[in-house]
Amino acid sequence: GATIGILGGGQLGRMLTLAGRNMGYRFVTLDPTEDSPCGQVADEQIVAGYDHVISARKLAEQAEVITYEFENVDAQVTELLMKEAYVPQGSQLLYTTQHRIREKKAIEAAGAPVAPYEEITSAAQLREVVERFGTPCVLKTATGGYDGKGQWVIRSLDETQEAFDTLIKSGAELVLEQFIHFDKELSVIAARSPGGEVKAFPAAENIHVNNILHLSIVPARIPASVQKEAEELAVRIASSMGVIGLLAVELFLTPDGQLYVNELAPRPHNSGHYTMESCRTSQFEQHIRAICNLPLGSTELMTPVVMVNLLGQHVDPLLELLDQPGFEDEELGVSAKIHLYGKHEAKHNRKMGHVNLLASDTARALTWIERSAIWESK
Ligand code: ATP
Ligand code: MG
Ligand code: MG
Repeated sequence: GATIGILGGGQLGRMLTLAGRNMGYRFVTLDPTEDSPCGQVADEQIVAGYDHVISARKLAEQAEVITYEFENVDAQVTELLMKEAYVPQGSQLLYTTQHRIREKKAIEAAGAPVAPYEEITSAAQLREVVERFGTPCVLKTATGGYDGKGQWVIRSLDETQEAFDTLIKSGAELVLEQFIHFDKELSVIAARSPGGEVKAFPAAENIHVNNILHLSIVPARIPASVQKEAEELAVRIASSMGVIGLLAVELFLTPDGQLYVNELAPRPHNSGHYTMESCRTSQFEQHIRAICNLPLGSTELMTPVVMVNLLGQHVDPLLELLDQPGFEDEELGVSAKIHLYGKHEAKHNRKMGHVNLLASDTARALTWIERSAIWESK
Protein backbone atom coordinates (compact mmCIF):
# COMPACT_ATOMS: atom_id res chain seq x y z
CA GLY A 1 0.00 0.00 0.00
CA ALA A 2 0.91 3.68 -0.15
CA THR A 3 3.10 5.26 2.51
CA ILE A 4 1.59 7.90 4.76
CA GLY A 5 3.96 10.36 6.42
CA ILE A 6 3.03 11.90 9.76
CA LEU A 7 4.51 15.11 11.10
CA GLY A 8 4.82 14.49 14.83
CA GLY A 9 5.37 11.27 16.72
CA GLY A 10 3.01 11.60 19.68
CA GLN A 11 0.02 9.52 20.67
CA LEU A 12 -2.25 10.95 18.00
CA GLY A 13 0.20 9.82 15.32
CA ARG A 14 0.52 6.47 17.05
CA MET A 15 -3.22 5.82 17.01
CA LEU A 16 -3.48 7.06 13.39
CA THR A 17 -0.75 4.59 12.49
CA LEU A 18 -2.36 1.69 14.34
CA ALA A 19 -5.65 2.36 12.53
CA GLY A 20 -4.06 2.90 9.12
CA ARG A 21 -1.86 -0.18 9.24
CA ASN A 22 -5.01 -2.27 9.44
CA MET A 23 -6.03 -0.60 6.20
CA GLY A 24 -2.81 -1.64 4.50
CA TYR A 25 -0.86 1.60 4.59
CA ARG A 26 2.80 2.02 5.53
CA PHE A 27 3.73 4.77 7.97
CA VAL A 28 6.75 6.99 8.39
CA THR A 29 6.82 9.55 11.18
CA LEU A 30 8.99 12.58 11.73
CA ASP A 31 9.77 13.48 15.34
CA PRO A 32 12.82 14.86 17.16
CA THR A 33 12.80 12.25 19.91
CA GLU A 34 13.86 8.71 19.19
CA ASP A 35 11.45 5.92 20.10
CA SER A 36 8.48 8.29 20.05
CA PRO A 37 4.99 6.86 20.70
CA CYS A 38 4.32 6.87 16.95
CA GLY A 39 7.84 5.79 15.98
CA GLN A 40 7.41 2.62 18.05
CA VAL A 41 4.55 1.42 15.86
CA ALA A 42 5.39 3.04 12.51
CA ASP A 43 7.33 1.25 9.79
CA GLU A 44 9.97 3.92 10.13
CA GLN A 45 10.80 7.01 12.11
CA ILE A 46 12.90 9.85 10.79
CA VAL A 47 14.55 11.55 13.75
CA ALA A 48 14.08 15.24 13.05
CA GLY A 49 17.19 17.36 13.29
CA TYR A 50 17.62 21.01 14.09
CA ASP A 51 16.71 22.10 10.56
CA HIS A 52 12.98 21.42 10.19
CA VAL A 53 12.97 21.97 6.44
CA ILE A 54 15.71 19.41 5.80
CA SER A 55 13.89 16.90 8.01
CA ALA A 56 10.59 17.54 6.26
CA ARG A 57 12.28 16.96 2.88
CA LYS A 58 13.32 13.48 4.08
CA LEU A 59 9.70 12.74 4.99
CA ALA A 60 8.49 14.03 1.61
CA GLU A 61 10.93 11.71 -0.18
CA GLN A 62 9.43 8.67 1.50
CA ALA A 63 5.71 9.33 1.73
CA GLU A 64 3.01 9.57 -0.93
CA VAL A 65 0.56 11.30 1.42
CA ILE A 66 1.47 13.58 4.31
CA THR A 67 -0.58 14.50 7.35
CA TYR A 68 0.17 15.97 10.76
CA GLU A 69 -0.82 15.34 14.36
CA PHE A 70 -0.38 18.92 15.62
CA GLU A 71 -1.37 22.21 14.05
CA ASN A 72 1.69 24.28 14.88
CA VAL A 73 3.56 23.18 11.79
CA ASP A 74 6.21 25.70 10.80
CA ALA A 75 5.10 27.74 7.74
CA GLN A 76 8.34 26.98 5.86
CA VAL A 77 7.81 23.27 6.43
CA THR A 78 4.25 23.49 5.13
CA GLU A 79 5.46 25.39 2.06
CA LEU A 80 8.14 22.79 1.30
CA LEU A 81 5.75 19.89 1.79
CA MET A 82 3.12 21.47 -0.45
CA LYS A 83 5.76 21.73 -3.20
CA GLU A 84 7.45 18.39 -2.82
CA ALA A 85 4.70 16.10 -1.56
CA TYR A 86 0.96 15.57 -1.48
CA VAL A 87 -0.60 17.18 1.60
CA PRO A 88 -4.34 16.66 1.12
CA GLN A 89 -5.25 18.86 4.08
CA GLY A 90 -3.49 21.81 2.44
CA SER A 91 -1.81 24.79 4.04
CA GLN A 92 -4.83 27.06 4.52
CA LEU A 93 -6.31 24.86 7.26
CA LEU A 94 -3.09 25.11 9.26
CA TYR A 95 -2.76 28.83 8.63
CA THR A 96 -6.30 29.40 9.94
CA THR A 97 -6.22 27.13 12.98
CA GLN A 98 -2.76 28.21 14.13
CA HIS A 99 -4.12 31.62 15.03
CA ARG A 100 -7.14 32.20 17.28
CA ILE A 101 -8.30 35.39 15.55
CA ARG A 102 -8.12 33.91 12.05
CA GLU A 103 -9.87 30.83 13.40
CA LYS A 104 -12.69 32.85 14.97
CA LYS A 105 -13.21 34.72 11.68
CA ALA A 106 -13.47 31.40 9.83
CA ILE A 107 -16.00 30.13 12.38
CA GLU A 108 -18.06 33.32 12.04
CA ALA A 109 -17.85 33.08 8.24
CA ALA A 110 -19.43 29.63 8.54
CA GLY A 111 -22.34 31.24 10.40
CA ALA A 112 -21.41 29.72 13.77
CA PRO A 113 -21.40 31.75 17.00
CA VAL A 114 -18.23 32.58 18.98
CA ALA A 115 -17.86 34.52 22.25
CA PRO A 116 -17.41 38.26 21.64
CA TYR A 117 -13.69 38.90 21.12
CA GLU A 118 -11.24 41.60 20.23
CA GLU A 119 -7.61 41.73 19.18
CA ILE A 120 -5.48 43.35 21.89
CA THR A 121 -2.45 45.48 21.05
CA SER A 122 -1.77 47.56 24.18
CA ALA A 123 -2.44 47.52 27.91
CA ALA A 124 -4.50 50.70 27.63
CA GLN A 125 -6.70 49.22 24.92
CA LEU A 126 -7.03 46.00 26.91
CA ARG A 127 -8.36 48.01 29.85
CA GLU A 128 -10.85 49.75 27.60
CA VAL A 129 -12.12 46.45 26.14
CA VAL A 130 -12.33 44.79 29.57
CA GLU A 131 -14.48 47.72 30.71
CA ARG A 132 -16.74 47.20 27.72
CA PHE A 133 -16.94 43.35 27.99
CA GLY A 134 -17.19 43.28 31.78
CA THR A 135 -15.35 40.82 34.00
CA PRO A 136 -14.47 38.03 33.99
CA CYS A 137 -12.96 37.78 30.53
CA VAL A 138 -10.15 35.70 29.10
CA LEU A 139 -6.96 37.05 27.56
CA LYS A 140 -5.26 34.50 25.30
CA THR A 141 -2.20 34.39 23.11
CA ALA A 142 -3.40 34.07 19.51
CA THR A 143 -0.85 31.34 18.78
CA GLY A 144 0.82 28.45 20.55
CA GLY A 145 -1.51 27.87 23.54
CA TYR A 146 -2.59 24.44 24.76
CA ASP A 147 -3.91 22.93 28.02
CA GLY A 148 -4.86 26.45 29.11
CA LYS A 149 -1.29 27.72 28.78
CA GLY A 150 -1.01 31.24 27.37
CA GLN A 151 -4.25 32.37 29.02
CA TRP A 152 -5.24 34.70 31.81
CA VAL A 153 -8.74 34.96 33.26
CA ILE A 154 -9.12 38.64 34.08
CA ARG A 155 -11.36 38.97 37.12
CA SER A 156 -10.98 42.68 37.79
CA LEU A 157 -9.81 45.80 36.00
CA ASP A 158 -6.75 45.97 38.30
CA GLU A 159 -5.33 42.84 36.67
CA THR A 160 -5.23 44.13 33.11
CA GLN A 161 -1.67 45.51 33.21
CA GLU A 162 -0.22 42.35 34.76
CA ALA A 163 -2.15 40.07 32.42
CA PHE A 164 -0.98 42.05 29.40
CA ASP A 165 2.66 42.18 30.55
CA THR A 166 2.74 38.45 31.29
CA LEU A 167 1.21 37.22 28.04
CA ILE A 168 2.90 39.72 25.73
CA LYS A 169 6.27 38.32 26.84
CA SER A 170 5.73 35.26 24.67
CA GLY A 171 5.85 37.61 21.69
CA ALA A 172 2.49 36.37 20.45
CA GLU A 173 -0.45 38.50 19.40
CA LEU A 174 -3.26 38.62 21.96
CA VAL A 175 -7.02 38.25 21.87
CA LEU A 176 -9.54 39.03 24.58
CA GLU A 177 -12.70 36.94 24.85
CA GLN A 178 -15.79 37.53 26.88
CA PHE A 179 -16.17 34.83 29.53
CA ILE A 180 -18.94 32.36 28.72
CA HIS A 181 -20.64 31.09 31.87
CA PHE A 182 -21.16 27.65 30.41
CA ASP A 183 -23.10 24.78 31.85
CA LYS A 184 -21.19 22.20 29.82
CA GLU A 185 -18.27 21.92 27.44
CA LEU A 186 -18.85 19.83 24.34
CA SER A 187 -16.89 18.79 21.31
CA VAL A 188 -17.81 17.42 17.94
CA ILE A 189 -15.37 15.83 15.54
CA ALA A 190 -16.29 16.03 11.89
CA ALA A 191 -14.54 14.57 8.89
CA ARG A 192 -14.69 15.83 5.34
CA SER A 193 -13.38 14.09 2.27
CA PRO A 194 -12.02 15.76 -0.88
CA GLY A 195 -15.33 15.20 -2.67
CA GLY A 196 -17.17 17.18 0.01
CA GLU A 197 -18.74 14.31 1.97
CA VAL A 198 -18.96 15.33 5.65
CA LYS A 199 -19.80 13.22 8.70
CA ALA A 200 -19.82 14.17 12.37
CA PHE A 201 -19.26 11.89 15.34
CA PRO A 202 -21.72 12.16 18.24
CA ALA A 203 -21.13 15.18 20.48
CA ALA A 204 -19.00 14.49 23.55
CA GLU A 205 -19.52 16.14 26.93
CA ASN A 206 -16.05 17.05 28.20
CA ILE A 207 -14.91 17.61 31.76
CA HIS A 208 -11.52 19.24 32.36
CA VAL A 209 -9.38 19.16 35.49
CA ASN A 210 -6.55 21.72 35.70
CA ASN A 211 -7.35 22.71 32.10
CA ILE A 212 -6.55 19.17 30.95
CA LEU A 213 -9.27 16.94 29.54
CA HIS A 214 -10.33 14.44 32.20
CA LEU A 215 -13.54 12.84 30.89
CA SER A 216 -15.49 12.62 27.66
CA ILE A 217 -19.03 11.38 28.21
CA VAL A 218 -21.01 10.09 25.22
CA PRO A 219 -23.90 10.46 24.70
CA ALA A 220 -23.52 13.93 26.20
CA ARG A 221 -26.06 14.53 28.96
CA ILE A 222 -27.89 17.23 27.02
CA PRO A 223 -31.13 17.32 25.03
CA ALA A 224 -31.03 15.46 21.72
CA SER A 225 -31.86 18.71 19.94
CA VAL A 226 -28.70 20.35 21.31
CA GLN A 227 -26.58 17.34 20.34
CA LYS A 228 -27.94 17.63 16.85
CA GLU A 229 -27.32 21.38 16.74
CA ALA A 230 -23.71 20.95 17.89
CA GLU A 231 -23.13 18.27 15.26
CA GLU A 232 -24.67 20.48 12.59
CA LEU A 233 -22.40 23.37 13.59
CA ALA A 234 -19.32 21.17 13.20
CA VAL A 235 -20.48 19.98 9.78
CA ARG A 236 -21.19 23.54 8.71
CA ILE A 237 -17.74 24.75 9.80
CA ALA A 238 -15.91 21.83 8.15
CA SER A 239 -17.84 22.42 4.93
CA SER A 240 -17.39 26.17 4.94
CA MET A 241 -13.64 25.86 5.54
CA GLY A 242 -13.30 23.14 2.92
CA VAL A 243 -11.55 20.94 5.45
CA ILE A 244 -10.05 17.64 4.33
CA GLY A 245 -9.56 15.13 7.14
CA LEU A 246 -10.74 15.67 10.69
CA LEU A 247 -11.86 18.89 12.31
CA ALA A 248 -12.45 18.92 16.07
CA VAL A 249 -14.82 21.64 17.25
CA GLU A 250 -14.87 22.62 20.94
CA LEU A 251 -18.06 24.26 22.16
CA PHE A 252 -19.60 25.85 25.23
CA LEU A 253 -23.25 25.25 26.11
CA THR A 254 -24.88 27.89 28.32
CA PRO A 255 -27.71 27.17 30.78
CA ASP A 256 -30.19 28.80 28.38
CA GLY A 257 -29.20 26.40 25.61
CA GLN A 258 -26.97 28.67 23.54
CA LEU A 259 -23.92 27.10 21.85
CA TYR A 260 -20.65 28.99 21.25
CA VAL A 261 -17.66 27.60 19.40
CA ASN A 262 -14.49 27.88 21.51
CA GLU A 263 -11.74 26.62 19.23
CA LEU A 264 -10.88 24.19 16.45
CA ALA A 265 -8.24 21.53 15.86
CA PRO A 266 -7.56 20.13 12.36
CA ARG A 267 -6.57 16.65 13.56
CA PRO A 268 -7.61 13.77 15.79
CA HIS A 269 -8.60 15.14 19.18
CA ASN A 270 -8.29 13.79 22.71
CA SER A 271 -12.05 14.15 23.11
CA GLY A 272 -12.50 11.79 20.14
CA HIS A 273 -10.64 8.87 21.67
CA TYR A 274 -13.98 7.54 22.88
CA THR A 275 -14.75 6.56 19.26
CA MET A 276 -12.12 3.79 19.29
CA GLU A 277 -14.33 1.00 20.61
CA SER A 278 -17.71 2.69 20.76
CA CYS A 279 -18.31 3.90 17.20
CA ARG A 280 -18.48 1.90 13.99
CA THR A 281 -15.50 3.88 12.75
CA SER A 282 -12.84 5.46 14.98
CA GLN A 283 -11.74 9.07 14.49
CA PHE A 284 -8.34 7.72 13.40
CA GLU A 285 -9.72 5.43 10.71
CA GLN A 286 -11.99 8.26 9.57
CA HIS A 287 -9.05 10.62 9.17
CA ILE A 288 -7.14 8.09 7.07
CA ARG A 289 -10.24 7.48 4.97
CA ALA A 290 -10.69 11.22 4.41
CA ILE A 291 -7.10 12.04 3.45
CA CYS A 292 -6.85 8.92 1.25
CA ASN A 293 -10.11 9.78 -0.51
CA LEU A 294 -11.94 6.65 0.59
CA PRO A 295 -15.65 6.76 1.46
CA LEU A 296 -16.17 7.95 5.05
CA GLY A 297 -17.20 5.32 7.59
CA SER A 298 -20.32 5.28 9.71
CA THR A 299 -20.04 7.44 12.84
CA GLU A 300 -22.85 5.60 14.60
CA LEU A 301 -22.42 5.13 18.36
CA MET A 302 -22.75 1.45 19.20
CA THR A 303 -22.64 1.80 23.01
CA PRO A 304 -22.56 4.52 25.64
CA VAL A 305 -18.98 5.26 26.65
CA VAL A 306 -16.89 7.37 29.00
CA MET A 307 -13.27 8.10 28.07
CA VAL A 308 -11.00 8.91 30.98
CA ASN A 309 -7.46 10.19 30.47
CA LEU A 310 -4.53 8.49 32.19
CA LEU A 311 -2.02 11.08 33.31
CA GLY A 312 1.40 10.29 34.75
CA GLN A 313 0.06 10.11 38.32
CA HIS A 314 -2.67 7.63 37.31
CA VAL A 315 -0.58 4.94 35.68
CA ASP A 316 0.66 3.06 38.76
CA PRO A 317 -2.78 2.96 40.42
CA LEU A 318 -4.23 1.63 37.15
CA LEU A 319 -1.63 -1.10 36.82
CA GLU A 320 -2.28 -2.14 40.42
CA LEU A 321 -6.00 -2.29 39.80
CA LEU A 322 -5.50 -4.48 36.73
CA ASP A 323 -4.68 -7.39 39.05
CA GLN A 324 -7.79 -6.95 41.14
CA PRO A 325 -11.02 -8.83 40.53
CA GLY A 326 -13.69 -6.39 39.48
CA PHE A 327 -11.57 -4.55 36.96
CA GLU A 328 -13.97 -5.87 34.41
CA ASP A 329 -16.95 -5.19 36.60
CA GLU A 330 -19.58 -7.69 35.61
CA GLU A 331 -22.09 -6.51 38.14
CA LEU A 332 -21.89 -2.96 36.80
CA GLY A 333 -21.58 -4.30 33.27
CA VAL A 334 -18.64 -2.05 32.39
CA SER A 335 -15.82 -3.10 30.13
CA ALA A 336 -12.60 -1.14 30.40
CA LYS A 337 -10.50 -0.80 27.25
CA ILE A 338 -7.02 0.42 28.06
CA HIS A 339 -4.81 2.35 25.67
CA LEU A 340 -1.24 3.17 26.63
CA TYR A 341 0.94 5.35 24.44
CA GLY A 342 4.36 3.82 25.11
CA LYS A 343 5.77 6.91 26.81
CA HIS A 344 8.72 6.11 29.01
CA GLU A 345 8.46 8.72 31.74
CA ALA A 346 5.22 9.01 33.72
CA LYS A 347 5.52 12.72 34.52
CA HIS A 348 2.80 14.47 36.50
CA ASN A 349 -0.07 15.56 34.21
CA ARG A 350 1.57 14.01 31.16
CA LYS A 351 -0.92 12.18 28.94
CA MET A 352 0.18 8.53 29.16
CA GLY A 353 -2.94 6.79 27.88
CA HIS A 354 -6.68 6.61 28.28
CA VAL A 355 -9.38 4.12 29.20
CA ASN A 356 -12.65 3.74 27.31
CA LEU A 357 -15.38 2.48 29.61
CA LEU A 358 -18.17 0.83 27.67
CA ALA A 359 -21.45 0.33 29.51
CA SER A 360 -25.18 0.20 29.00
CA ASP A 361 -25.33 3.78 30.25
CA THR A 362 -22.76 6.45 31.05
CA ALA A 363 -23.80 6.62 34.73
CA ARG A 364 -22.46 3.07 35.21
CA ALA A 365 -19.17 3.98 33.59
CA LEU A 366 -18.90 7.03 35.88
CA THR A 367 -19.60 4.80 38.88
CA TRP A 368 -16.77 2.50 37.76
CA ILE A 369 -14.41 5.50 37.66
CA GLU A 370 -15.46 6.58 41.16
CA ARG A 371 -15.11 3.08 42.62
CA SER A 372 -11.72 2.46 41.06
CA ALA A 373 -10.26 5.48 42.93
CA ILE A 374 -7.53 5.76 40.28
CA TRP A 375 -8.31 9.35 39.44
CA GLU A 376 -8.27 10.68 42.99
CA SER A 377 -4.71 11.94 42.62
CA LYS A 378 -5.15 15.07 40.61
P1 ATP B 1 -6.67 22.83 24.54
O1 ATP B 1 -5.79 22.02 25.42
O2 ATP B 1 -8.11 22.37 24.50
O3 ATP B 1 -6.10 23.11 23.17
P2 ATP B 1 -6.27 25.67 24.97
O4 ATP B 1 -5.08 25.97 25.80
O5 ATP B 1 -6.16 25.85 23.51
O6 ATP B 1 -6.81 24.22 25.31
P3 ATP B 1 -8.95 26.80 25.29
O7 ATP B 1 -9.62 25.56 24.85
O8 ATP B 1 -9.17 28.01 24.49
O9 ATP B 1 -7.39 26.60 25.53
O10 ATP B 1 -9.37 27.11 26.79
C1 ATP B 1 -9.10 26.18 27.82
C2 ATP B 1 -10.30 26.09 28.73
O11 ATP B 1 -10.50 27.36 29.38
C3 ATP B 1 -11.60 25.80 28.03
O12 ATP B 1 -11.77 24.41 27.84
C4 ATP B 1 -12.60 26.41 29.00
O13 ATP B 1 -12.81 25.56 30.10
C5 ATP B 1 -11.88 27.65 29.48
N1 ATP B 1 -12.20 28.81 28.63
C6 ATP B 1 -11.53 29.21 27.54
N2 ATP B 1 -12.10 30.28 26.97
C7 ATP B 1 -13.17 30.58 27.72
C8 ATP B 1 -14.19 31.58 27.66
N3 ATP B 1 -14.22 32.52 26.71
N4 ATP B 1 -15.16 31.57 28.60
C9 ATP B 1 -15.17 30.63 29.58
N5 ATP B 1 -14.23 29.67 29.70
C10 ATP B 1 -13.24 29.63 28.79
MG1 MG C 1 -6.38 24.61 21.94
MG1 MG D 1 -9.43 23.82 24.07
